Amino acid sequence: MAAYEIIEHNYDVVVVGAGGAGLRATLGMAQQGLRTACVSKVFPTRSHTVAAQGGIAASLGNMGPDNWQWHMYDTVKGSDWLGDNDTIEYVTRHAPEAVIELEHYGVPFSRTEEGKIYQRPFGGHTTEFGEGPPVQRTCAAADRTGHAMLHTLYGRSLKEKAVFYIEYFALDLIMSDDGACTGLMAWKLDDGTIHRFNAKMVVLATGGAGRTYFSATSAHTCTGDGGGMATRAGLPMQDQEFVQFHPTGVYGAGVLITEGVRGEGGYLTNSEGERFMERYAPTYKDLASRDVVSRCMTLEIREGRGVGPRKDHIHLNLSHLPPEVIHERLPGIAESARIFAGVDVTKEPIPVIPTAHYNMGGIPTNYWGEVLNPTKDDPDAVVPGLMAVGEAASASLHGANRLGSNSLIDLVVLGRAASLRAGKVVDPESEVPKGPDAEVERIMERFDGVRHMDGDLPTAEARLRMQRTMQEDAAVFRTEETLKQGCEKISALWKDMENLSVSDRSLVWNTDLMETLELQNLMANAITTVYSAEARKESRGAHAREDYPERDDKNWRKHTIAWVDAAGKVSLSYRHVHTEPLTPPEKGGIDPAKIAPKKRVY
Ligand SMILES: Cc1cc2nc3c(=O)[nH]c(=O)nc-3n(C[C@H](O)[C@H](O)[C@H](O)COP(=O)(O)OP(=O)(O)OC[C@H]3O[C@@H](n4cnc5c(N)ncnc54)[C@H](O)[C@@H]3O)c2cc1C
Repeated sequence: MAAYEIIEHNYDVVVVGAGGAGLRATLGMAQQGLRTACVSKVFPTRSHTVAAQGGIAASLGNMGPDNWQWHMYDTVKGSDWLGDNDTIEYVTRHAPEAVIELEHYGVPFSRTEEGKIYQRPFGGHTTEFGEGPPVQRTCAAADRTGHAMLHTLYGRSLKEKAVFYIEYFALDLIMSDDGACTGLMAWKLDDGTIHRFNAKMVVLATGGAGRTYFSATSAHTCTGDGGGMATRAGLPMQDQEFVQFHPTGVYGAGVLITEGVRGEGGYLTNSEGERFMERYAPTYKDLASRDVVSRCMTLEIREGRGVGPRKDHIHLNLSHLPPEVIHERLPGIAESARIFAGVDVTKEPIPVIPTAHYNMGGIPTNYWGEVLNPTKDDPDAVVPGLMAVGEAASASLHGANRLGSNSLIDLVVLGRAASLRAGKVVDPESEVPKGPDAEVERIMERFDGVRHMDGDLPTAEARLRMQRTMQEDAAVFRTEETLKQGCEKISALWKDMENLSVSDRSLVWNTDLMETLELQNLMANAITTVYSAEARKESRGAHAREDYPERDDKNWRKHTIAWVDAAGKVSLSYRHVHTEPLTPPEKGGIDPAKIAPKKRVY
């Protein structure tokens, strides 16, 4: 066994991740009187939540009539009837109080004339169960909502005396022989020390896995580490095939270019200079819905009409717009294009590509955040000692497609719910469990093995292969052929990664080693995504199959459950969707007829 000195810590609860979900859980756990630690690989306020601009959905009704049932209906429909209706009811009902709570904690929301929290319209949010006009439901702190939330929640967590372990990289979960989680191992990045956290409850709040794709709007730190840790512990992932794409991310950098550009008259062209959207969507052209535009762009690229030396992206043109329009209405975009694409938008087009934006799938949980390990007898079996919240989890609020501004509300409502549940199931008086030392040895063997890999495949090259495969074969637009090819390529890469080279052997700020560990986590996400997508023979939400263009509720209104073993073998199973809301209609719940499946048109 590799000789590593191990520093031990004992807590009631250890939260991994300090984004919106991790911080809200940490804060709540500490308020429950539980001794709580929060472990994060980046400084809390640098988590990806900081980049969220648009806002957070809650039916406050500050700008006109609204109620939680309308929000629930919109979310059920947005999920393309794959969301769990108990979770959807829980979140939409508790959303208003969660936002008020954030306000009281000190989030500097923008205000209306009367001093109420300002709310803006967002896609898919409506009134009258989809029959009325759009609603203004998205609460915003200017265009810095995530930033404001993170700073406020971090300050609050410190006030509650939660202990932070910052720039600690969580390696793996310590599981007991009977399948309970008893803690985790972590590597302190700045001094190379190794830490063992024993805990009665571990909460994975590690965020999304956007970086499985070549082009992603998410931070480079969004590497799906929670999914990697869960799958190595023998636990499954849920609904991994559902990945949301935004049509216009900057090629290469992935930075988001708002839909407002096309709203102001910008348009897309292919290598022949053709405004191809006119061909696909004669009425709305470049302003068709996000998934439609993303699919058309991908088709153009696949048929050889992409731009650039690799013919793998599309041009977004705004140079025909009057300079004052760009200056007044799109200054941020002009700046992003200059910095990230080196382009002067008054003269040249912006290179763009459909860009991975959000993972609807993740570690399966109930709406209390408890991680599920479905068995034949019990599809909702709970893993003792383990929770997951935020984008790392699949609760499933978003089902097959997430509505804008429904992620930030997911983080705070379900982060809080997890802490309420932990307050019930964790006994502060009991002894902190200590998992098997053999597990710790196994985890350190793996770590040491990765540290000393001396093959000839550099990590960066392997990562690029994964990202290009995912971008080409498991993107917006899918067929049997591309998905089969994607499965083969990712499986081949899984094998080739036995031959990785890690050139830096040190333990202090070894980014080479960290990126290799992250790549292994990304691959657990990538391989479950392609195999789950290949198996699902229908189109639903973000999963659009050319060969199966219709939604098939009879056969496919069910969650995909995917395991992957150390050899890269993926096993699939399915779990029922929770179609029952929490509250029956006679007790004030939503009328079941309102949320029965129907065709999804906007
Ligand atoms: C550009 C952009 C704009 C968006 N805008 C909106 C919006 O306006 N409204 C909305 O609702 N949603 C929006 N979203 C989606 C939303 O912001 C995210 O889904 C959400 O912030 C994820 O929060 P999280 O707490 O789950 O994870 P994150 O904020 O990603 O945090 C993950 C945490 O886990 C830690 N971590 C990860 N791995 C490890 C490890 N191995 N060891 C230790 N720590 C680890 C990290 O350090 C970090 O603290 C946007 C997303 C993007 C990318």
